[in-house]
Amino acid sequence: MDSPLVPVATMQHDNNSEDRSFGFETRMLHAGHIPDATTGSRAVPIYQTTSYVFESADNAAQLFDLKQYGNIYTRINNPTTAVFEERMASLEGGAGAVATASGMAAQLTAMMTLLEPGDEVVASQHLYGGTRTQFVHTFRKLGIKAHFVDPDDFDAWEAAITPSTRVLYGEIIGNPQGSVLDVGRLAVLAKAHYLPLVVDNTFATPYLCCPLSFGANVVLHSATKFLGGHGNSIGGVIVESGEFDYSHYRAIAAPSASYHNLRFYDTFGHHAFLMKARMETLRDTGACLSPFNAFLLVQGLETLALRMQRHVDNAMAVASFLQNHPKVDWVAYPGLAGSPYHALAREYLPKGAGSVFSFGLFAPQGKARALGKAFIEALSLFSHLANVGDARSLVIHPASTTHQQLSDEELNESGVGPGMVRLSVGLETLDDLLWDLDQALHVI
Ligand SMILES: *Cc1c(COP(=O)(O)O)cnc(C)c1O
Repeated sequence: MDSPLVPVATMQHDNNSEDRSFGFETRMLHAGHIPDATTGSRAVPIYQTTSYVFESADNAAQLFDLKQYGNIYTRINNPTTAVFEERMASLEGGAGAVATASGMAAQLTAMMTLLEPGDEVVASQHLYGGTRTQFVHTFRKLGIKAHFVDPDDFDAWEAAITPSTRVLYGEIIGNPQGSVLDVGRLAVLAKAHYLPLVVDNTFATPYLCCPLSFGANVVLHSATKFLGGHGNSIGGVIVESGEFDYSHYRAIAAPSASYHNLRFYDTFGHHAFLMKARMETLRDTGACLSPFNAFLLVQGLETLALRMQRHVDNAMAVASFLQNHPKVDWVAYPGLAGSPYHALAREYLPKGAGSVFSFGLFAPQGKARALGKAFIEALSLFSHLANVGDARSLVIHPASTTHQQLSDEELNESGVGPGMVRLSVGLETLDDLLWDLDQALHVI
């Protein structure tokens, strides 16, 4: 069911371009934007406004009643943010998108749209730390329970599904393990149990992998990372395929008490999830993206393919260099032939396995933490900070920062050894990156 009230990704110009399917690079530059009719502005304008003048009293009433789709208030929609949303929908191959204030907000918005108190989620245990915390603690306040399973163990996925399960959740590339999610196989399992599969595609971006094309139903991102790409804006986005049949999915199909008993599925068909995420969840949580950040994220998208190719080329070379270095114990990069995830990486990430990965320093018993710290201090090009996906190369030593409260034993248990270092390989001259790592490894 197609609703005329919902905007469609705008790719058409005046000629017969509607029949043509444009390439990734063309869409990253043009999708979702037509030059401004009044000013001719070629760049996407920043609509720094909270609200929009209604054409008439009737028009206002129609907008509020969702009889007509249009701008009301920037917490719900904004023309600059809409370009980012439609461009992301086009790049991921989805039916539409909803932008959010951050990656954490994207997860919460997607999950609050799909879940109700008493529902359960089965998630991969290879998750971003903040995601795990959100799923355990914030979800508990909402009456939602998360179960975590080894993503490679399909018996465990199956066994964790109960009659209350409503969502399966995973990350395309997990850290620090460097694991690759078998999205296609998980999608088959999800479908068999009538569950939407939600995939965090932050580390791959649609340039390296489009999980919707392998059967995932919802893809979300911390746009803070590679999509923005320059380490200057926090943002997030949710893209949906429009292909999951929500006709019997309670949270979407049942009358919504907070929208005068609107039935989102009956009214909006395959746009029901996105409409509910925007008109209800985003409206109520207020976790919207600012137009200025949307503009910066659109700037990032315009060079996404070029940056990602360079990120993965540099990452592969850095990983190979480290693997052959006598002071390095192990490297968890799925692009390396020796990785247990290499076959999955070739299947799902044929252009490259991302540019965030971990490695371990060789260290005598009890010395790993100090060595890791000394290594970080000796680096000069890599910036020591808590982020990934910047154009610049980044490094962090979890044992002396994010995980410093844990003992060596606890660190090993959580898969973050005391000598583990995480890199986010940037776009610098490769030789300079190798030089910096080599000199820092010599210092220790
Ligand atoms: C950073 C990150 C998040 C959280 O995103 P924010 O934009 O920081 O809120 C979620 N998932 C992954 C994989 C991330 O790297």
